[in-house]
Amino acid sequence: MASIRFLGAAGTVTGSRFLVEAAGRRVLVDSGLFQGPKEYRLRNWAPFPVEPSGLDAVVLTHAHIDHSGALPLLVRSGFQAEAWCTPATADLARVLLPDSAKLQEEEARYANEKGYSKHAPRALPLYDLADAAGAIARLRTLQYGTPREIVSGFTLAFSRAGHILGSASALLTLPGNDGAPLRLLFSGDLGRYDAPILPDPEAPPAADFLVVESTYGDRDHPAVSAAVDLEREILAAVARGGAIVVPSFAIGRAQEVLFLLRELEQAGRIPALPVFVDSPMATAATPIYRAHREDHDAEMDALLARGIDPFTPTRLTFTRTPEQSKAINRVVGPCIIVSASGMATGGRVLHHLEHRLPDAASTVLLVGYQAAGTRGWSLQNGAATVRMHGKDVPVRARVVSLPGFSAHGDRAEVGRWMDGAVRPPRRTFCVHGEPTALAAQAARIAARGWLVHVPRHLETVELG
Ligand SMILES: [Zn+2]
Repeated sequence: MASIRFLGAAGTVTGSRFLVEAAGRRVLVDSGLFQGPKEYRLRNWAPFPVEPSGLDAVVLTHAHIDHSGALPLLVRSGFQAEAWCTPATADLARVLLPDSAKLQEEEARYANEKGYSKHAPRALPLYDLADAAGAIARLRTLQYGTPREIVSGFTLAFSRAGHILGSASALLTLPGNDGAPLRLLFSGDLGRYDAPILPDPEAPPAADFLVVESTYGDRDHPAVSAAVDLEREILAAVARGGAIVVPSFAIGRAQEVLFLLRELEQAGRIPALPVFVDSPMATAATPIYRAHREDHDAEMDALLARGIDPFTPTRLTFTRTPEQSKAINRVVGPCIIVSASGMATGGRVLHHLEHRLPDAASTVLLVGYQAAGTRGWSLQNGAATVRMHGKDVPVRARVVSLPGFSAHGDRAEVGRWMDGAVRPPRRTFCVHGEPTALAAQAARIAARGWLVHVPRHLETVELG
């Protein structure tokens, strides 16, 4: 009996994990960590619903931790098979998984120092660097558009999803109950049309069943241009004479910001300011973004063919050491500091904010989603002070949100992607969204005349 079981990202956004079973084989599509509220994060600690050693393969749609971050956990619990992904996803995972392991180790160390681990004599990390290395050793790569049998009877094919470098939709063809093959398509996270760097999401291949992301199922992005907003705010910041701090996700968003800065400079729309990338992960990810030609759109191709580095504004510095990072504090006058984390929950951006927020000439540009409860969210909502390193830092800088940046297609764009289906799937499952977004997306899919379902956490559905 062929079936799918929704082990995560069902009724919520994070923890993407979908177990596909057929003909006695088990393939897990995505193995993400749950993030956000504690009730979800606790799920990371629960025993995996199936024995990891019994999995025949894992497929990763992309490298974001909510899709890949549980792979080290599986390895720690006995997973020994192969984990399939695109070449760029493998390269990004080599950066992201060890970083995730370090965060887990730091959290455990902190709990032990503060003594708030009540139940065990010592808090243990969810996984450690050795587990991340073990996960990386399991990675196997598959190019877009080249179907391959990854497990006896299971064929995998990737198509471009345009979300981050290496992101893919995954088509699994598996043995159906009557012996005829079943085609099960996972959208993965879908990106935007006409975005810089990456090509548009590819139209979905024909499928019997579709599992579609619903992050923005109830919303459209505002009709603004990231480049136009960025230009306006940089010019305003230059007029104020202060620094511009850009808290940014290190992978994807940082490269997009660099791309637009170079483009605006070359077009003569902004002056060539000193630009600092102060994030070891963004520094590691940028050459990966440059190297993977198979993930580039025509504009990227054309720039690289002309010998132009699309991620290099004229006065760019990647800081390497903590000393170089601290030295940015001494830069007087307009400059741009791109630093992680994107919601100011940690990372080097904290010391830049601590230094620049009290300065009324400075500007903070929020170029990413700010989850409730984060410092980025407080800034976005006009907080007079934010707490950092044990003190309340006054916010005198100008804080601006630039909503034109998003790595997720909105309601209309995911609709456009589904419009490309050659025939309706027999059934569509809405995942990876908050409940209101899932309900709205399901209603729109039902309005197409498609059979649709919003699965519950741990629900199993037979694919008859
Ligand atoms: Zn993602």
